Amino acid sequence: MTASALPGAPFLARQADELWLDGVRLADLAAEFGTPLYVYSRGAMAAAAAAYLQALSGRPHLLCYSMKANSSLAVTKTFADLGLGFDIVSGGELARVIAAGADPAKVVFSGVGKTRAEMHTALLAGVKCFNVESEPELLALSELASSLGRTAAVSLRINPDVDAKTHPYISTGLKGNKFGIAHGQARAAYAHAARLPGLRVVGIDCHIGSQITEIAPYLDALDRLLDLIEQVETDGIPIAHIDLGGGLGITYTDEQPPAADVLVRALLGRIDARGHGQREVLLEPGRSLVGNAGVLLTEALVLKPGTDKNFCIVDAAMNDLVRPAMYQSWMAIVPCQQRDPQVTPPLNWDIVGPICESGDWLGRDRSLSLQAGDLLAVLSAGAYGMAMASNYNTRPRAAEVMVAAGRAMLIRRREEVADLFRDELLPD
Ligand SMILES: *Cc1c(COP(=O)(O)O)cnc(C)c1O
Repeated sequence: MTASALPGAPFLARQADELWLDGVRLADLAAEFGTPLYVYSRGAMAAAAAAYLQALSGRPHLLCYSMKANSSLAVTKTFADLGLGFDIVSGGELARVIAAGADPAKVVFSGVGKTRAEMHTALLAGVKCFNVESEPELLALSELASSLGRTAAVSLRINPDVDAKTHPYISTGLKGNKFGIAHGQARAAYAHAARLPGLRVVGIDCHIGSQITEIAPYLDALDRLLDLIEQVETDGIPIAHIDLGGGLGITYTDEQPPAADVLVRALLGRIDARGHGQREVLLEPGRSLVGNAGVLLTEALVLKPGTDKNFCIVDAAMNDLVRPAMYQSWMAIVPCQQRDPQVTPPLNWDIVGPICESGDWLGRDRSLSLQAGDLLAVLSAGAYGMAMASNYNTRPRAAEVMVAAGRAMLIRRREEVADLFRDELLPD
């Protein structure tokens, strides 16, 4: 992998055989904070947001960071400071938005199974809208809002039945998925929503999947939404905003997703061409704002070269980063300090964690010059990394550091083992 091909460049860079992120040498961070360690570049996040914002400027818009990709308070605050809103999927995420000092009025609340308690909290917090995913949810929200003497702003999440051409687990806009209201039922659902007390229809939305690398599925979904808007407005129900969800992919290896501004310009072009230019446009990107801003640092604990396979056992595991185990994702793994291949000839290594599961791997068949004790960086780990971490095997979760133009800030202390069973009780 050449320096220019590093996913995460230019913030991630190799200088004199060492890996740097946003002006900080990663080996120094590992020495100071230990491993496994997540490190995020604030500059990289800001640059990713700027690509969306520039393309959206000059028209009513709200860019909502889909915080399930990485919900750390410091990351949340970084995007709030840039003026972004948030796409949340739980009451817990709303609590994080508030704890980070961000404005709940810029929050859209998505999710196929919102509890009454979550709806209640979100109503009182004054979220911008609920992205409603079913008729029962409409009824529940109407009842709750009426009983509280509030009005819930609602946008219906439409399942447009388009193929996002991505991994089946992260494809969400097909008929067979659990998400959203079927396109064919949407017009009736809008009519229903408009009649229910305690609700105010404000928008329409969809989210067709994740790690999407083509523009065409977005345009297909957009066309389906615009068709529906035209019908619903004929029925006398105005739709103020159109929310096209998130899902833009990033480069992990050789994927070539469109740049965010290219995608946004294509979408806006279609919206304008069809005469809908006055509408507020919302987007809900997650991965594309944080994925390539982060790395996971891990130390090679033990090398086990063998006849069939060479295993490099590292101190990060599937509990720290589950994407390879869960989606068979390929993530780049590179040494933080490159060894001389003349001295340490490269071998094909499987980079695995210490957990008792054969699914506990981070990368397979990676040609690397390695010695025990070496520091490795798993790249493109800013999204769906720490946010999906668990305590499996009673492993404390990693620490997190944010770097900004040469400065490093600890943003989450490493969990301690005692924290892990603090809430447990022994029986009599
Ligand atoms: C997960 C999710 C997103 C963000 O998806 P990315 O692929 O991370 O951009 C946006 N909207 C909804 C409703 C989601 O569930």
